[in-house]
Amino acid sequence: MVLTANRPAAAGVDGCRTRASKTRRAERVTRVLEDLHGTPDLGNKEDPLDELVFIVLSQMTTSKSFGRVFDRLKRAVTSWDQLVDMPVRRLKSIIKDAGLSNQKAPKLKAIMRRLRADFGVVNLDALRGMDDQAAHEYLISLPGVGTKSAKCVLMYSLGRDVLPVDTHVARLTSRLGLLASDTTTYSIHDALEAIVPPSIRYSLHVNAIVHGRTVCVATSPRCHQCPLKRACPSRSL
Ligand code: SF4
Repeated sequence: MVLTANRPAAAGVDGCRTRASKTRRAERVTRVLEDLHGTPDLGNKEDPLDELVFIVLSQMTTSKSFGRVFDRLKRAVTSWDQLVDMPVRRLKSIIKDAGLSNQKAPKLKAIMRRLRADFGVVNLDALRGMDDQAAHEYLISLPGVGTKSAKCVLMYSLGRDVLPVDTHVARLTSRLGLLASDTTTYSIHDALEAIVPPSIRYSLHVNAIVHGRTVCVATSPRCHQCPLKRACPSRSL
């Protein structure tokens, strides 16, 4: 699938042609967004399994309620291994406000079962001793865990310099000309990590999410109030 990221009508121009110029643009964008948004706390978790549960609850929903649902689920158990034996109906009831509980409850139980089988304990502490690639491969081997979710765990909880690409990051970087117009959803992580230096990946990720939620929104982006508009090939003024 080719990524279009809802570019405005004027889009389609790759604003910078070489990898080096795209890196410079990514660095400038990151600095501007840091000045605008600071270092936002998006509620992500220090513990890697907490983060994975948080990410699963957030999947396929625009609801802001998943943060509250995570807290509710965390209060309902003393440790995540209790999800292995929790009746799926009870788990669905606890997480229903996050949406898609028919899919998320069995997925969470399957993940916990797999961790118990692999490590004898239900946590992701073993990842701390793995390099980035090994930890990533283990995470995407878990039921229903894709590249973006794996990279969120790696970045937020394990301090790895990876770049998770969610819908906001994809839309913003595409509109800014950091991605070639034929970039696919399958290649987007590699494409962005190839041009965004490790040291700014965290900042670009969290700030792109905030900017995508508040200014560079999917429909009718608020270009008139965007500090990136002068350099943006997709601006609609
Ligand atoms: S000017 Fe800003 S809000 Fe408008 S498309 Fe570009 S990045 Fe998005």
